[in-house]
This record gives sequence, C-alpha cells and structure tokens, in this order.
Amino acid sequence: MVAHKVTLIPGDGVGPEIALAARRVIDASGAPVEWEVVEAGEALIPAYGTPLPEPVLESIRRNRVALKGPITTPVGGGFRSVNVTLRQELNLFANVRPARTLPGVATRYQNVDLVVVRENTEDLYAGIEHRVGRDAAESIKIITREASERIVRFAFDLARKQNRRKVTAVHKANIMKLSDGLFLECARKVAEEYPDIAFEDMIVDAMCMKLVQSPENYDVLVLPNLYGDIVSDLCAGLVGGLGVAPGANIGLEAAVFEPVHGSAPKHAGKNRINPLAMILSGIMMLQHLGEEGAAGRIQEAVVTVLQEGKALTYDLGGSAGTSDMADAIIEKMNSLP
Ligand code: NAD
Repeated sequence: MVAHKVTLIPGDGVGPEIALAARRVIDASGAPVEWEVVEAGEALIPAYGTPLPEPVLESIRRNRVALKGPITTPVGGGFRSVNVTLRQELNLFANVRPARTLPGVATRYQNVDLVVVRENTEDLYAGIEHRVGRDAAESIKIITREASERIVRFAFDLARKQNRRKVTAVHKANIMKLSDGLFLECARKVAEEYPDIAFEDMIVDAMCMKLVQSPENYDVLVLPNLYGDIVSDLCAGLVGGLGVAPGANIGLEAAVFEPVHGSAPKHAGKNRINPLAMILSGIMMLQHLGEEGAAGRIQEAVVTVLQEGKALTYDLGGSAGTSDMADAIIEKMNSLP
C-alpha cells in the first residue's frame, strides 16, 4: 500500500496537544499516512524572521495535503495572520465547515446537517487597510467576479457530490450594493448551471436569525469571507461548540484541514481541550485522500465514545483529558469488528 505523505503543522497554544491526539487516532485507523512535521507560528520568528517559514509552504506544495493545528495571531501590529497568509499563498479559495448534530452531544437542536462554504481569499480579509490621519482608518472590501463565481460553483459541486438539495447565498447586497451586489449577481448566474439543486439568497442578518430558529431548513450556505467567518462560528454553536467543529481549506493545488477554533492559549499545556474538532478535520482529510474506510472507522468510534459519555472533555460536560478522549476513540476502533 502506498502511503499518503501529509504535512502536519502542530501549531501553537493547544495545537500540539490536539495534533498529537489526531495523529495517534489516524495512525490507529490503519490509514496509510506518512507524516512530515513542520513548525509555524510566532516561536519561529527569531530563527526565520517570519512565523511562516518557506519550508512549511514547500512541504504543503509538495504533499498537497496538510493537517494543521491552530496558530495564534497577535492582535494589532507585527506579522499578518499565518492562517490567512497560508490560505492566500496556496490559493486555498474554499473554506468548508460542516456543522452536523453529533449523537451524544447535548445541544438545543436536533437534525442539523449543513455545510458552510466560505470564500477564503478576498473581502475585508484582503488586508488592505490604512489610517486616514490620526483619528480614522479604512479597510477595503474586495469582491471579484472570478472569486465569487469560483466559490459558488464550488458550493454547488459540493452539494451535488454530497447529495444535498439546496444552496443559500448569504450577503448584504441591500446595503453594499456594488460589492455584495456583485457576489449575489455571480451566485444567481452560477445557480442557473445547476437546475437540479434549489437556490435561494438571504441577507446575512436575517440568515443569523433563521439559523438559530430553524437550522434544519438549511443545507449548503455560501458566503463571502467575513460573513463566512462569523456565520460558521454561529453554526458550530448549533451543534456543540468549537470543540466539535472541523474545517478544510481547499484549493486546486493543495488542501489544508484544520479545526475552526483557535489556539485557546488559556488552556495550553493542560491536556484539557477537546481534540474532536482536530480529529473530525482528520476524517475530512482522509475522505479527501480517498481513505473512506479509515474515515468511517474513526467516525464510528467517535460516535460510540460520545454516546457512552464516559470520556468527554469539559466542554461536553465531562472531565476527561485531551489524551483520554483520544485513547477512548483508539480503544473503540480496536474493538470494532
Ligand atoms: P479560540 O477558538 O482559540 O478559543 C476561544 C474559547 O473557545 C477557548 O478559550 C475555549 O474556552 C473554547 N474552545 C476553543 N477550542 C476548544 C476546544 N477544542 N475544546 C474546548 N473548548 C474550546 O479563540 P480566541 O481565543 O479568540 O483565539 C485565540 C487565538 O487563536 C488568537 O490568536 C486567534 O487569532 C487564533 N485563531 C487561530 C485560528 C487558526 O489557527 N485557524 C482560528 C481562530 C483563531
């Protein structure tokens, strides 16, 4: 069996703990993965002059697939976010964040099964900002036809691949008539190419309200970058919070899988944080690699551990540590028929 070479970026804060947990679980699943571990983040600045050294990008370009832990972005001056830079450097234009009800995770909602598809390269995240005199600042929101059509097409293709029935384009075109107006125009045009999938559009504020009222009515959401960032956290909250929210950044040349959550510095080094978001990101990675069998084994073990409720981390109402939860998942996998 030929192994898939995968770049593993442990990240900082709680990153190394959850990366280790996910690595152990994936190795135990029998998936033929050979890890190439590379480091990124603030700690690299003294040696490399940057938090994102070239060997990290080279490794991902070579292997085309990476599993990544969260990386801290200091607020204010200094370097740009490693996470944003990575997505832009590798043109990982689609950010995919599924939100699905997990058995055994207590939430206010049942039957949530939606996917947030967020444009990942432009909008206010283009990072074009300047001060205007001492007391004002401007950020420039970039929306292009090319990126908008590409992300909406990606959302419809994902809907088809996953047998989903509807795509909802989310915007604020009533106010930002030119920028969000262009995004909406592109969404409507691309939707015509997919007559088998229903299409609707919704203003972002109304979308937030409807998501908390009746999330089961939604299937695939496609959004410009900033709304996607915010709405995907909201959707994580519908299904149990950041501890169980996986994600993927996908481009034509590479794909980087990572949890939605950040480096949660106050929990770092305490073996306390929930590793599931990282493990579920690992499942998405295995599916991307065509390793459906291994992905299914991990999924089944995760569901059993959640349903049994004995090895849950604090955010799920338990007192198990990060490594205990990984151990429980591995044990369940080993006992699967
Ligand atoms: P965060 O997601 O790191 O944590 C916020 C809170 O959510 C935590 O304090 C914790 O209570 C809870 N939480 C998060 N993950 C959890 C898990 N796996 N299990 C249990 N509880 C969990 O958000 P933040 O504090 O705003 O950000 C910290 C740093 O992470 C910042 O520097 C931010 O820029 C960075 N960040 C990085 C990424 C990334 O690497 N992709 C994403 C988001 C934020």
